[in-house]
Amino acid sequence: MDFRLTPEQRAFQAEVIDFIEHGLPPGWDQEFESLEDRLAVERDIMKRLAAKRWLALPWPKEYGGLGASPMQQMLFNEQMAYHGVPGTVNMGVAWVGPVVMLYGTEEQKARFLTRIADGTDLWCTLYSEPGAGSDLAAMQTRAVRDGDDYIINGQKIWTTFGHYADWGWLAARTDPNAPKHKGISTFAVKMDSPGITVRPLVNMAGTHEFNEVYFEDARVPASNLVGEENRGWYNVAVGLDFERSSIGATSNARRTVDDLVALLKERRGRTPDPIRHRMAEHAIGVQILRNLAYYIASQQEKTGIAPTREAQMAKLFGAELQQRIAATALQIFGMGGQAAPPGSRALRYQYLYLRSVANTIEGGTSEIQRTVIATRGLGLPRE
Ligand SMILES: Cc1cc2nc3c(=O)[nH]c(=O)nc-3n(C[C@H](O)[C@H](O)[C@H](O)COP(=O)(O)OP(=O)(O)OC[C@H]3O[C@@H](n4cnc5c(N)ncnc54)[C@H](O)[C@@H]3O)c2cc1C
Repeated sequence: MDFRLTPEQRAFQAEVIDFIEHGLPPGWDQEFESLEDRLAVERDIMKRLAAKRWLALPWPKEYGGLGASPMQQMLFNEQMAYHGVPGTVNMGVAWVGPVVMLYGTEEQKARFLTRIADGTDLWCTLYSEPGAGSDLAAMQTRAVRDGDDYIINGQKIWTTFGHYADWGWLAARTDPNAPKHKGISTFAVKMDSPGITVRPLVNMAGTHEFNEVYFEDARVPASNLVGEENRGWYNVAVGLDFERSSIGATSNARRTVDDLVALLKERRGRTPDPIRHRMAEHAIGVQILRNLAYYIASQQEKTGIAPTREAQMAKLFGAELQQRIAATALQIFGMGGQAAPPGSRALRYQYLYLRSVANTIEGGTSEIQRTVIATRGLGLPRE
């Protein structure tokens, strides 16, 4: 296996690094006083990325992207994540746009795609419900046709960015009598429509990222049904086929390890053995994950499809590695890590430790990932 970059890939990588060093708004990496301040900077970054057609990098040129290859997309994501540039987690780009391109009408493509690629509209994902997470097809939110509209009733939960998204990508049950995977449809929902209530949920790290979203007789025009009625499950699955290398997790982990190494070197005296050994293990973990990410992207480049088994392995390994690294970081700070006062250096690691708990839940839990690797990946019997 040869991971050397081509001259074009190296040139693109250098262009991305140059943009990070010179093209971002001043103060983009500071701590923000309020969510509004942070959002204003994120929207600014999105617009700057969009101007270079990098916001929707893998999309075809006609829809505002650059038609980038999986390898190019991975190189971009690697640098953005390593430098912690915000505004690059974009569900509109990741799965709404691709589904609209595949199954949307021409009118829907014209209405939604440009505004995603140019950074105007932010989308959130309305899949999970209180009784449907790992078993997503058990969702109960109903969409009932009424003239030119669908009437939506039900509750979604853990909706990331639901409090500031312009649009929601909703999966709801349109046929309650069909087998559970076959009665679901997908809709584009304007988040400020009457009948939609967004309530905040604060996570254990103390930040407000996700929400509960209630639908009470909310009307969605039938022209916002994306794809065929009752075929929504397949639209949900399509979202999985895009960037799957887990390079973002790799870069985050690599950055934390690099920063911790620098911090330990600054300190006078010998690093205690338990910390030294853990750091060595994390460095190995980062290397394994990076190799896996490059392997996945190179396979996707060759065949057009990400290898499912390795993609699941990278997601699982990356999420757990980040948790282990965050635990070591807190140990490095001793009691100061747990009681990190405002403004202290330890605060970032305390947040990382608390936030990393969600890594093994979001986007599919580790138990489910292990089951998929064992059954689909290793071929072990399901029953
Ligand atoms: C930070 C974060 C952001 C999120 N953002 C979004 C979002 O934007 N939109 C959205 O729709 N959802 C979002 N989610 C929800 C996420 O997709 C679900 O939390 C996840 O799929 C797990 O579902 P659940 O919470 O219902 O847990 P459950 O499915 O109830 O699982 C509970 C526990 O049981 C285990 N378990 C369940 N079934 C099995 C099984 N068959 N075998 C073995 N163990 C099992 C799980 O592994 C887990 O440990 C987010 C979650 C987090 C943490």
